[in-house]
Amino acid sequence: MRSHYCGGINEAHIDQEVTLCGWVHRRRDHGGVIFLDLRDRDGMAQVVVDPDTPESFALAEKVRSEYVVKVTGRVRRRPAGTENSNMPTGQVELLCKELAILNASATPPFPLDEYVDVGEDVRLRYRFVDLRRPEMINRLRFRSRVTSYIRNFLDSRGFMDVETPILTRATPEGARDYLVPSRTHEGAFFALPQSPQLFKQLLMVAGVDRYYQIAKCFRDEDLRADRQPEFTQVDIEASFIDEQTLMQLNEDMIRSLFRDVLSVELPEFPRMPYAEAMRRYGSDKPDLRIPLELVDVNDLVEGVEFKVFSGPAKDPKGRVAALRVPKGGELTRKQIDDYTRFVGIYGAKGLAYIKVNELAKGAEGLQSPIVKFLGDDVALAIMERVGAEDGDIVFFGADKATVVNEALGALRVKLGHDLKLLTCEWAPLWVVDFPMFEETPDGGLTAIHHPFTAPSCSPEELEANPAAALSRAYDMVLNGTELGGGSIRIHDETMQETVFRILGIDQAEARAKFGFLLDALKFGCPPHGGLAFGLDRLVMLMTGASSIRDVIAFPKTQSATCLMTQAPGEVDEKQLRELHIRLRRSAKAAEGNKAEGDKP
Ligand code: ASP
Repeated sequence: MRSHYCGGINEAHIDQEVTLCGWVHRRRDHGGVIFLDLRDRDGMAQVVVDPDTPESFALAEKVRSEYVVKVTGRVRRRPAGTENSNMPTGQVELLCKELAILNASATPPFPLDEYVDVGEDVRLRYRFVDLRRPEMINRLRFRSRVTSYIRNFLDSRGFMDVETPILTRATPEGARDYLVPSRTHEGAFFALPQSPQLFKQLLMVAGVDRYYQIAKCFRDEDLRADRQPEFTQVDIEASFIDEQTLMQLNEDMIRSLFRDVLSVELPEFPRMPYAEAMRRYGSDKPDLRIPLELVDVNDLVEGVEFKVFSGPAKDPKGRVAALRVPKGGELTRKQIDDYTRFVGIYGAKGLAYIKVNELAKGAEGLQSPIVKFLGDDVALAIMERVGAEDGDIVFFGADKATVVNEALGALRVKLGHDLKLLTCEWAPLWVVDFPMFEETPDGGLTAIHHPFTAPSCSPEELEANPAAALSRAYDMVLNGTELGGGSIRIHDETMQETVFRILGIDQAEARAKFGFLLDALKFGCPPHGGLAFGLDRLVMLMTGASSIRDVIAFPKTQSATCLMTQAPGEVDEKQLRELHIRLRRSAKAAEGNKAEGDKP
């Protein structure tokens, strides 16, 4: 139908006849002539319809915003003084010879020509209109470039794209499963994959050697700001490979991706043990753009009267850490109160601080409600340890280590942004040497990564001291966001059984849930490992979008619904019956239905 995209015409086409198709972005009636800004996914072109073409002119009078039209005409240079240098097609316009209205449009739910933020609900309900906005369509295009770059990269390195099932058994990644009832097997359910983890490992047993997939994953979690119940991973696995080679390969991929699509040269990816990341940044995904660090002062405050500090300092699970903020002495009382409330979100009971007015005056030069409780010597020793200078403020966290890490870790990032302390644009790193397990609130152990991750010790050592064992897992972190993570896997049956046992999965349960994996480990499983990148987050970071939803064509809301299709929806009684399902409605749901007129 068309000869060019609207955004594709320029001075090279002057005097040529072209046909454009698209949506009427804006129509301006200048008495004698009508201007149509015609838009398609590639951009915008100005069309001029004048009364010399009476039929087209009559049609042009009828068109409204978002009508779909086809225009054939001649490209000409815009009259001097009317060029628009903000528009790639701004030097030319199309003089209409023939206009056809291909479809009308109701008044759009929000104007596209003078778009103002209409609220995400409206945008999601009319996503098909929202995606017409250049900002949105460009993000989709960018995402497509990213996936195609990644595919080419992995293809060129010998990776094979293999699809894995969506209807499957539970694949544990630590979230709840989405379940699909089986019609043909009464009372049985499929689970949607939380990741292709087990299948990609089985592909290694099968000898595929190098696998990738741009895979949909499903996790029924309580949604946090940048989570989606279904999301996309770049999923990778390879055999006969160690973590160094895997990390290097993936680093190369991300580095060349940034170079190719963003013209960004990423700096070196340092490798940092998990323990160091927690100690210095209170986080296993530290934002290294921010030059603030947590400093342990347990040993200095163990003996002080001040129980708020000495208590956690003496507790093996406690931590007392200081965070020095250069020039932070200028923070006002109100700002400090706000930060105190902020750390409260993470469970901190307060936010002690010392302002450094004049170190030359010794403890006299420190301004703080807590110096008198710490004693002058201790206060000064802390100042020396953190390298305090006049004009700084030093914040403290004293609590269980988990609370201190979360609270000061988050405060560090917030201060970094609020005080504009970022030292660079991109700061990638690998976090390595994760512990195998972490404690659950009930005192049990759970896998930090997933139960198929190999430990860096023998099964005997693992069994003897599981809490201290490290894993062969690695996470790639960029600007404080986890881009992806993976591990070398267990390829030995005894080791896998040991891990299951430590996790409290007895033999019968292991057999029932993962019998196929244990079988596969018996039949010549090669050493292997891999990782997965969160594609949505990667694209969000690369485009600077503020929400993951902005880089997904049809995302769900925070409460895991689709405002456009109204999914999840109710189904009729017949379908439920076929699925052998009778609903147990909570009182709340029954109430809701009554209000809506007692739908079945
Ligand atoms: N399956 C893991 C995940 O989704 C990634 C991996 O270990 O490769 O986090």
